[in-house]
Amino acid sequence: MTNLTHRSPRIPFLRMTGIILVSTLLGLAIGIGVAVRSTDVKVTKYALHLVDYADHFTDEINSTLDVVNASPFPFCSDEDIARLRGMVFHGHLVKEIGRVRGGNLYCTSMTGRLQSPMVQAKPDIVTPSGKAIRLNTPLISAPGMLGDITESGEADFVAARDTFAHLREAPMSYTTTLTNRVQNQILRTAGEPLQLTNEEIFGEKKLIRGDRYFVARCSERYAPCMVASLSLHDAWDMNISNIRGFGLIGMLAGIALAGTIAVPRKRSLATQLRRALRGNLITVVYQPIVDVKTGQIVGAEALARWTNEDGQYIPPDVFVSAAEELGLIAKLTRVVLKLIVAELGEYMRSHPSFRLNVNISATDLADSSFLPMLEKLLAQNKIASSSVNLELTERSTADHHLAISAISKLRERGHAFYIDDFGTGYSSLSYLNELAVDAIKIDRAFTDAIGTGSLTAAIVPQILAMAEALHVKVVVEGVERAEQSQYFARLDQEILAQGWHFGEAIPAREFLVLLEAKAAGTSDQVH
Ligand code: C2E
Ligand code: MG
Ligand code: MG
Repeated sequence: MTNLTHRSPRIPFLRMTGIILVSTLLGLAIGIGVAVRSTDVKVTKYALHLVDYADHFTDEINSTLDVVNASPFPFCSDEDIARLRGMVFHGHLVKEIGRVRGGNLYCTSMTGRLQSPMVQAKPDIVTPSGKAIRLNTPLISAPGMLGDITESGEADFVAARDTFAHLREAPMSYTTTLTNRVQNQILRTAGEPLQLTNEEIFGEKKLIRGDRYFVARCSERYAPCMVASLSLHDAWDMNISNIRGFGLIGMLAGIALAGTIAVPRKRSLATQLRRALRGNLITVVYQPIVDVKTGQIVGAEALARWTNEDGQYIPPDVFVSAAEELGLIAKLTRVVLKLIVAELGEYMRSHPSFRLNVNISATDLADSSFLPMLEKLLAQNKIASSSVNLELTERSTADHHLAISAISKLRERGHAFYIDDFGTGYSSLSYLNELAVDAIKIDRAFTDAIGTGSLTAAIVPQILAMAEALHVKVVVEGVERAEQSQYFARLDQEILAQGWHFGEAIPAREFLVLLEAKAAGTSDQVH
């Protein structure tokens, strides 16, 4: 049985591969889209987390400074300093608190009152709410150490340098800043060097710069703005398994799609074949059958051809099997018979010794209307039944009883009966005897084996001897080379041959020209 889906040339391999490729690429594209989105979500979330922490930190600074400024004790009095120490002790982020007046530091929580007031350096930035910030300032209480100082009113708050360090989320990195939008100032306070412009930070942009993805986010309440980033390489590494997963899903979907598209094609082949049979799209070509000794054309085999509506050539073994499966074979045989009568009828009438072989199927053999149809057609066109030989493959004769009686009926009516592809089926010598056929066509596989010394080649003489004993004629199929032709020509037995060596199957018009040329002795196509 022919597997139509598999063999149908309407779903070329390339098309299916194309569908699978496109859908794999689509899957990969979706995977990359998802990866881009998830990278964005991750980096943005990180930036917002940094902003949250900065807000919390600023809350503590502001409330501490407010409390210090609201001291009920005299400025830098023992009670005032003791109060500062208590606050440092209970605070989380504060390292030290100082008291300033008129630009000078007078006392701190750690060192107490200074011997002489210390002049404060110029601030690095002043926030919109008026807080002066000094970064990397040496601490008088801890020589060699630096702190970030926020000053408001008569108080200053000293924080450690690495306040954000515990928020590190490798492989992402951050830059923390303090800003003053009014002055268009941005001061990097910690983290990686700043790579975005003021506009990009104030605009809270998301962008790729160099090989990194950046997200800027600013506090809604205070001066900090945060920039979080991730290298594209790390983003790719983090998402590659997802991207591959989507690619795989795309590929599987493509395979499924190609499969589902192939199924309707099966129907489409049936529809197209029905239309072809109705609409005269089936044609017939003729391959000469010659006497291997003389090279004379003694007949031909009619072979059906179909080029479908898409312009694709469908090989006969595909559409003949399809016609069998779809119950269209009787119709196909009738179409072929009508064509041979129309195309070669006149030649057959004028050359009664010419034999035209037509392939029929087991279904035709079992069909009681086949013989009446054939007889009627030939009679209407005044063609002798002896002009039309019938070929049936050896495999199609497997139903013994049916084959014996049907073949004998056809022979009674004057048709010579040929077993096609002989040697590939089940025929034993006695079976062939019972079938009572006129000729066997030795399958191409045996012709191919000639001269190879193989077992297949060794069987050829046995088949020939058996045919001779049964008075059955022999046609050798698939003669492609001169040596093969010579092998059979040398034998002391009447043998007919068919194959590319003598001529390929050609349309009626060309075949008639060949016959004429041959008759006039001018053709070199048939040896
Ligand atoms: P088949 O009846 O055995 O026909 C001979 C096949 O061998 C043809 O193939 C022919 O083109 C090919 N052939 C001839 N000489 C050579 C050669 O030297 N070398 C090689 N390699 N091949 C050669 P095609 O035309 O493709 O037909 C294939 C089969 O389809 C036929 O095998 C026959 O079984 C079936 N078929 C063709 N037309 C019809 C039809 O009208 N009705 C039915 N029922 N079957 C048909
Ligand atoms: Mg044949
Ligand atoms: Mg054959």
